[in-house]
Amino acid sequence: MYEGAVQDLIDELGRLPGVGPKSAQRIAFFILQSEPEDVSRLAEALNEVKRRVRFCEVCGNVSESEKCRICMDSKRSDEVICVVEESKDVVAIERTREFRGRYHVLGGAISPIDGVGPDDLRVRELLTRLADGEVTEIIIATDPNLEGEATATYLARMLKPMGLTVTRLASGLPVGGDLEYADEVTLGRAFAGRRQLDI
Ligand SMILES: [Zn+2]
Repeated sequence: MYEGAVQDLIDELGRLPGVGPKSAQRIAFFILQSEPEDVSRLAEALNEVKRRVRFCEVCGNVSESEKCRICMDSKRSDEVICVVEESKDVVAIERTREFRGRYHVLGGAISPIDGVGPDDLRVRELLTRLADGEVTEIIIATDPNLEGEATATYLARMLKPMGLTVTRLASGLPVGGDLEYADEVTLGRAFAGRRQLDI
């Protein structure tokens, strides 16, 4: 336990995901020993991200304007929407260069244990996007774990009766894992080999 400002910093860092007490302490002392201009840059980056970045009003991806770069891109297909849990999954899929459609970021996955149901996700916004009938295929790219599978099943049951082709990324992705940790080649293959979901 440290005094005042040092302990405050350790406490704040310790609230970050994946940062335990030891890491928080190590980072705090790294900052303490850094040059003032380096620390200012870090503080500025933290403030700027909250000031400038918001969520795309169409797809829910992080964006610096009302619509994100992908939603604004007229060269991409409007017929296919790839549904993912988080913005970081959009980045992972974009890296594969396999997909030229649009995205929809749910903001999580269905998890009864954590009290997260469909109403807590951006499902209603997805349905709104389907209203004009332009979309023909939904690719469900939720994580290959329990919550991701539950979300995929829920969405497939809802979307298939609407006459949409609903596909899921092919196997080969590490089961129980996070989409973002799959390497580009594996994720790219899973994309190319996506299969229709039977419900
Ligand atoms: Zn968008």
